[in-house]
Order: sequence, then C-alpha cells, then structure tokens
Amino acid sequence: MTGEGLLDPQGRVIDYLRVSVTDRCNYGCSYCIPADGVEHADRADILSFEEIAALVRVFASLGVRRVRLTGGEPTVRRDLTALVRLLRDIPGVDDIALSTNGHLLSELAAPLRAAGIDRVNVSLDSLDPARFRRVTRRGDLSRVLAGIEAARAAGFPSIKLNTVAIRGVNDDELDRICAWAWRRGLVPRFIEEMPMAAGRAYRPDAQLAAAEIRNRIAAAWPGARVVADAPDPTRGAGPARYFRLATDAGAGPPEGAGRFGVISPMTEHFCATCNRLRLSTAGALHACLAHDDAVDLRGPLHAGGADAVARAIRGALAGKRPGHTFQLIGLGGPRKAMVQIGG
Ligand code: SAM
Repeated sequence: MTGEGLLDPQGRVIDYLRVSVTDRCNYGCSYCIPADGVEHADRADILSFEEIAALVRVFASLGVRRVRLTGGEPTVRRDLTALVRLLRDIPGVDDIALSTNGHLLSELAAPLRAAGIDRVNVSLDSLDPARFRRVTRRGDLSRVLAGIEAARAAGFPSIKLNTVAIRGVNDDELDRICAWAWRRGLVPRFIEEMPMAAGRAYRPDAQLAAAEIRNRIAAAWPGARVVADAPDPTRGAGPARYFRLATDAGAGPPEGAGRFGVISPMTEHFCATCNRLRLSTAGALHACLAHDDAVDLRGPLHAGGADAVARAIRGALAGKRPGHTFQLIGLGGPRKAMVQIGG
C-alpha cells in the first residue's frame, strides 16, 4: 500500500500535513474571520483523535514526515496532549509542530512539550494591548506574552512569531516586534495578508507587500540593509523566506543579529516549492489553501480503511493546482476562511 511517496502533477514532493483539530477559535482576528462570521462544522462531523491518528498513519506511510496542528485555535480542543501522544507514536512522523495564538500556552506549553510537540509558532500581531485587542477582536496581549514565556521555559527548540503585516494596522511596529523577538532569541516572521473568505475580511488598499515589509524593517536600523539568509534548517522548503540585517564593517551588528522571515503569498509567491496538504476538522483534504475543492477522507477511512484513504489522498494530489490565483485586488481566493480549511 505504501508505495513511492507523494508526488504531485508538478513534481512537487509532499511531505508535510497541516491538521486542523478544530475550526473554532477563542480569538476573532479581523483579517481572518469576516465580521458576519463563518460556518462551523457540525460537532458530529469533527474527526475524533483516533480518526486523525488513523489518517496521519496513512499519510506517514505515503511519505509525510512533518505534521502541524492548527485550526481554528488548536489549544481550545479539549485534551490536545492526548492527540499529540497518539501522533508521536506513528512511525515516520518525525516532526510535530503547533500553530497557536498563545492565549492558552501558559497552561499548555509544558504539557504539550512533554507530549511531543517539537516546534511552536505563535501569532503576535501587535505589542500594543489596545491594538492587539482590536485586531484579534477579543485577544489579551498579556496572556499571549505570558504564553510565549511559558513556551520558552518549556524548552521548545524552535519558537517563531507570526505577524500578519497590514498597512494602517501594525505597519508602524514591525521593527518593534523584531527587536522584542530578537531580545528573546525568537524568530519574527511577517505574513502578507491573503484575501481568504472571498475577500470578506480583506482590504486591498491595506496590503503590505513583502518588499515594503523588508524596507520598513531595514529603515528602523540606520546603516543596515536586508540580505537573504539561509533557509530554516528545521523546516526544509517552507513558505517563509529568511532575511537578516547586515551592516558595513565597523558599524556593529544590529540588535540580536536581526534574522526575520517573510511569508509572501501575494507578491512573491512560493507555489513552486509547495510541499503541503491540509486536513480540515471534518476530514476534508485540501490540496491548496487558496482553492475550496477538497476530497473527503473520513468516508474512505470508515468504508475501506487505509488503502481507500491512500487512494483518496493520491486522488486529491492529482488535482493539486500549480498555484493559487490570489490577486492583489482581492479576487481569486477561496470562499472559505483559513479556519475552515486548516490555516
Ligand atoms: N489560531 C492559530 C494561530 O493563531 O496560529 C492557528 C490558525 S491561524 C488561521 C494560522 C495563521 O494564519 C495565523 O498566523 C494567522 O495570523 C494567519 N492568517 C489568518 N488569516 C489570514 C489571512 N487572511 N492572511 C494571512 N494570514 C492569515
């Protein structure tokens, strides 16, 4: 059943699976959740931990080596550590990562690390408490910062911060976020906003392009310029491109060596190196974040077991598009929001 690994029609090797463990979120980020909300999966349709583990076992048998738990907000799913322990035991899975808003990390960082999470990404869109609340609609910055500290104390080998950089929202504090991260040995990453949810939460005029993100960071350190840096050794070909601030001899290094990442789906897209699939909360396999089409894996799991799931995965892969069709004017994206696809 296992075969030769997962290769898509473009010859891209797929070895990375993002698993949405819930489509619910305790935050409601304004660029992610449209003001009139999104539909959630029926509770009866949500994959159990055993179903997720059974599906991941098939992915692993096909060559998937890395799994990221995401959502929605994965930490709001009860007893998430139990799922991590199940995944840890799957032969072939050698890296389990978590994307979180950090709100519950104070309580969960140590148990999640003990259960087997290797790496954590925490969303952090502002260091200003009032602005943070505005962007996240109900977020509590002090809890998130405490959560990041808890993650540091828990000893995760990699902690990254993810900031969606938006003009007029947080474009004036990219350098502050960098300095804050670097002082703590963390890697800040800046994401271009995507027109998910049919652009319902998206303002084209607020788009901040990757080049502008880099320029703004460089401008905050006079004498520094941005140079390309090596890819992240723990990630392989991921979506972030890494940069660092360089200064001429004698000028002295910028604060904390200055490494940062930019994830630029809009202006410098990385579809050619896409290595991932996404499993939704209800067991739909999305081959691309930017398209709504998906293949059900839950039905095959129950009707035909691992072989049927493997066939369905290969079928989904056969339909993986060469790339997304996001346009800067906000058209060409999916009807679904990140939380419905498995952001
Ligand atoms: N709740 C978790 C978190 O905060 O990381 C996991 C899910 S969240 C959808 C994953 C990432 O997607 C977050 O960093 C979030 O900021 C980002 N995101 C959500 N909507 C986005 C959009 N329209 N454009 C770009 N990034 C987006």
